[in-house]
Amino acid sequence: MSGPGLLDKFAPVAAIRDALAATGRNPTGLVTERLISPTLGIIEGRETILAGTNNYLGLTFDPACIAAGKAALDTFGTGTTGSRMANGSFASHQALEADMAAFYGQTYGMVFTTGYAANLGILSALLGPGDAVLLDADAHASLYDGCRMSGAQIFRFRHNDTAGLESRLRRLGEQSRRALIVVEGLYSVFGDVAPLAEICRLKHEYGAYLLVDEAHSLGVYGATGRGVAQAQGVEDSVDFTVGTFSKSLGATGGYCVSNNPVLQLVRYTSRPFIFTASASPSVVATAREALNQVSNRPQLREQLWRNAKRLYAAFQDMGLNLGCTVPSPVLAVRFSQRDEAFACWQGLVEAGVYTNLMVPPASPDGSSLLRVSVSAAHTPEQVEQIIAAFAKVVMPVQQRAAESVSAA
Ligand code: PMP
Repeated sequence: MSGPGLLDKFAPVAAIRDALAATGRNPTGLVTERLISPTLGIIEGRETILAGTNNYLGLTFDPACIAAGKAALDTFGTGTTGSRMANGSFASHQALEADMAAFYGQTYGMVFTTGYAANLGILSALLGPGDAVLLDADAHASLYDGCRMSGAQIFRFRHNDTAGLESRLRRLGEQSRRALIVVEGLYSVFGDVAPLAEICRLKHEYGAYLLVDEAHSLGVYGATGRGVAQAQGVEDSVDFTVGTFSKSLGATGGYCVSNNPVLQLVRYTSRPFIFTASASPSVVATAREALNQVSNRPQLREQLWRNAKRLYAAFQDMGLNLGCTVPSPVLAVRFSQRDEAFACWQGLVEAGVYTNLMVPPASPDGSSLLRVSVSAAHTPEQVEQIIAAFAKVVMPVQQRAAESVSAA
């Protein structure tokens, strides 16, 4: 017998891991040994500013959230030991669902154990064979996996390309009424936002449905923090909003809210809802309190945006090749060479600043980049330290790259 064996597929994975290990620092293996605050940790024994956490509002150490979590541990114990459909539906899960619906001004709310499960659970329930899904090419893996799990026909359109979306809808003809458009609010890698007004216009014109993932925009965009659809004034046109508690709320869990009563039926058909344990009571309690803070402390959002604007302006002054054209709490610096991105990421770690390194195949369009996520909890001094580290480590590399392109 010859041919590849079951486990031979791991050989290229081992090669990548070994190549990273040979550099002395594996970007997927960096460990935060201790946390001093939401934005400061100990990495490799060194105090490091955390600039890649998605902790947009800095709520992970909020005293009220911690107290709520502790109280839930005392009253409801450590875990639910079951799924929502079996034995794991507690009053606090229902309360969180009601909180989410009220926060969005929608009739129905549903919560899941993670954001990933929410996307699998909603998409695999809403869509089925014979349906069509129009998916932005840069959409998160959980959205893609949910579509795949559903068995619907998947049509990907170029990122934020509404002309491409329209031509897909047109070609679907009558079937566009069985189509779901799936996009994100704030895109988590490049920090750009969806052109929702135009997407909503197309959705109405072709009779399709629209789902928006506001995972990175909850608490961040919109007058009351409901996300990009609120910021763009199109909430009434969004059929299903999904998102996560794992970023601005500093907990874990996922949600869907809608005015469509079908959301109440999804509970009976969604396997990622039915066949997994529900969120622990302490996690639910911290998410509820964090949502309360989003509503009652708009100054957190204001501070986040002050920090984001300062960082964006400084990065622009340095001439960095950024992934977005307006200030955003997510800033990505693009590199044409994977090695340059890796060297800059290492240099920043050594300078005491942690960012996210993304290289192919994990990056959306095959580019290599460093991603920074800004937090309301970054002090003005920390923001200046991040800027100084980028000026020292990243700016010279980008200037050299720009010079070699213009000389070519
Ligand atoms: N949607 C988007 C757009 C995301 O970026 C993520 C997580 N990075 C998720 C869903 C999944 O959320 P969670 O990590 O809570 O499972």
